[in-house]
Amino acid sequence: MKRIMIDKDRCNGCLNCSLACMAEHNPAGKSIYVLNLTDIRNESRNFIALDRSGKPTPIFCRHCGEPECVIACMSGAMSRDPATGRVTYHPEQCAACFMCVLSCPFGVLKADTAERKVIIKCDFCGERETPRCVENCPNRAIYLIEVSEE
Ligand code: SF4
Ligand code: SF4
Repeated sequence: MKRIMIDKDRCNGCLNCSLACMAEHNPAGKSIYVLNLTDIRNESRNFIALDRSGKPTPIFCRHCGEPECVIACMSGAMSRDPATGRVTYHPEQCAACFMCVLSCPFGVLKADTAERKVIIKCDFCGERETPRCVENCPNRAIYLIEVSEE
């Protein structure tokens, strides 16, 4: 199974990964040219934070082996597929209690900005072989590795 790894030292904060994520999940189309950045419903599932020294730091879902978000979710809206290792969010089962947001040790989950009813969560870009954020990082600050089930 594949995991996204982060090399913070390589990140220069260009935000290509966040734009790629927003474009990939845009209902209006996947081209970057139809991405409306003024529409608050277009949200990135990853983000770049600045650390105390001002260094850009990629914050990405790790699709953890023992995901705290899944453990904390009482309605079954977060699940982990043992075959693929992907941690998936099921909005139709979500009670909007935001326990997953509080539980994620990487601080990567958030409620949607527009209505605060669903969780914005990495889906590994669905059927894509390589998530679009990884494909669009010019510095290989985020990259895929193959891991075996632990
Ligand atoms: S949301 Fe957080 S806890 Fe859940 S799989 Fe991603 S990194 Fe792990
Ligand atoms: S695309 Fe790569 S270098 Fe650019 S902000 Fe994202 S992780 Fe950092």
